[in-house]
Order: sequence, then C-alpha cells, then structure tokens
Amino acid sequence: MDPMIRKRNELLAQKVIKGLQSRRMSGYYAENKEEALKLALSLIPEGSTVSMGGGMSVAEIGLKDALIRGDYRFIDRDQMERRDAYRLTFDADYFLAGANAISDDGVIVNIDGNGNRLSAIAYGPKKVLFIVGMNKVCPDVESAVKRARTVAAPTNVQRFDRNTPCKKLGTCMNCKSPDCLCSQMLITRFGFDPDRIHVLLVGESLGY
Ligand code: SF4
Repeated sequence: MDPMIRKRNELLAQKVIKGLQSRRMSGYYAENKEEALKLALSLIPEGSTVSMGGGMSVAEIGLKDALIRGDYRFIDRDQMERRDAYRLTFDADYFLAGANAISDDGVIVNIDGNGNRLSAIAYGPKKVLFIVGMNKVCPDVESAVKRARTVAAPTNVQRFDRNTPCKKLGTCMNCKSPDCLCSQMLITRFGFDPDRIHVLLVGESLGY
C-alpha cells in the first residue's frame, strides 16, 4: 500500500477510535485483512455463539470461514430457516456486522431492508463486533448518512434481483418501490452497555 495512504489511515483511525471511546464504544485498528482476522479472533473467545447479517466485510477478512472452521457455535443462516437463525441470534454471544458508514467521531450508520441486522445491532446479542474498512469513514454524520444512502445501498442492491431505481441507475432515487431495500436506518451514537459495541477498523477498502 502507498505509505502516505497507510499513514493517513492510521491517523484517521485513531480519531475514529477516540470518538468511539467518547461514546462508550471500543475501537481497534488493523492495517490489513490478515491483521484484522487475527485481531477479530482474539476478541471472540472459542466456544462463543456467533451470528452475523449479510456482512461482506466480515467475509472479506476471512472471519466467517474461520468461525465456521473453528471451535465456535456459528449460527449459519444459509444452513437453516432464516426465522430460526434470527431467533437464535437474539441470544448470541457475538453479532458480526459491517457498517454502511461511520463518521470520524464514531457514529455508525446502517440501512436495512428486513431489519434483522439493525435489530441485532440495537439489542439482543451480548456483544456486537463491526468490521469496517477505512473506505467507510466520513467527515461527519450527515455525510455518513449520505454515503449509506447514495453509495452503500445502491451498490448492495446490485447483488439481488430487485426492481428498484438504484438497480438500474446506480444512485438512490428515494424510492418507495415494493422491492426497496431501505426500510430502516440505524444510527448508533452511544453504547448503552459500555462493553457491547466494538469496532475493528481495517486499513483497506472493504464491502460497500
Ligand atoms: S432507490 Fe430505493 S432501494 Fe435504491 S437506495 Fe434508494 S431508497 Fe434504497
């Protein structure tokens, strides 16, 4: 990686981590995917019950595969009825998620269609671990919301067979289409439980 980009990522990550700490959330920084995988596994004790949502970033650092292979009780929603997975997730030890955006003072923004991911982030699993590429860091909450709506959502929708304007145009048209994947938005600005929300920032581009 270009050393200037690496340096900037390190400095910016420290600002985000300070912001998270001021909000009773924990932050960590890993320079690359390999370091991120090691750090994430060091945070999740073996034997833990672990669940996740769509989590592109979680898969990209190899964490999903490592948990499936390792000594964990991984709730694999692709291998069971989705409703059963959501019910089990409510009582999981860890919930893993990406973020659609994060402000540089530690406010996390996510948009969801079904709401299962947002509900698990907000309440239920004992701990939440976000895996967040530095491409998701925005200068303030307003731009983080804008990123979530105009970059993350229209990119994410390309994975699915959905008849939405953004699928065709690549940008958000603020639709109310029956196929809309933007039903709800969650802004996580403070940790009600001081040891529940953990954010692992990664000095690479991850997810959307
Ligand atoms: S056009 Fe609709 S589905 Fe697409 S990003 Fe906007 S609100 Fe979401």
